[in-house]
Amino acid sequence: MSIVAIVGRPNVGKSTLFNRLVQRREAIVDSVSGVTRDRHYGKSDWNGKEFSVIDTGGYIKGSDDIFEAEIRKQVELALDEADIIVFVVDVEQGITPMDNEVAKLLRKEKKPLFIAVNKVDNAMRDADAVEFYNLGLGEYFTISSINGSGTGELLDAIAKEI
Ligand code: GDP
Ligand code: MG
Repeated sequence: MSIVAIVGRPNVGKSTLFNRLVQRREAIVDSVSGVTRDRHYGKSDWNGKEFSVIDTGGYIKGSDDIFEAEIRKQVELALDEADIIVFVVDVEQGITPMDNEVAKLLRKEKKPLFIAVNKVDNAMRDADAVEFYNLGLGEYFTISSINGSGTGELLDAIAKEI
């Protein structure tokens, strides 16, 4: 089964998106090895295609007390495990230095990659999303993980890769 990994810095809305995508949560697999297994797994399906979803960074709280190296480790592990990557960024915050770090890691990756500009809760925020072209990763999807807008289009695109 294809594995879709949700990556990005803290507080962009990864877990909110995960919860929206996943109907059936799997147990937290392993907390013994600490941050390297700091992830949640779930199952989802769309247009009859089933896939697993990984939410990364589950126990990382806030953005001040985390280290960039930990995020990097999370992303690299997700890249190893996953077939498809969803990189979540936050239209309220715009591009941060940590977003650029993650983008740098993803640019080398050959796997299908989708950029989800989250927190686009209303059409007025669509214009603000344009700055994310500067990540240098191409097209993006605008979504609101809270109200679900745009997530169908993102899932349509993901399902085509499965
Ligand atoms: P994570 O750290 O990336 O897993 O982010 P969370 O899913 O925990 O969300 C961080 C914060 O952003 C929470 O307060 C969420 O309610 C909020 N959030 C997530 N998605 C959206 C969204 O689509 N719109 C808005 N306005 N807030 C969101
Ligand atoms: Mg989270």
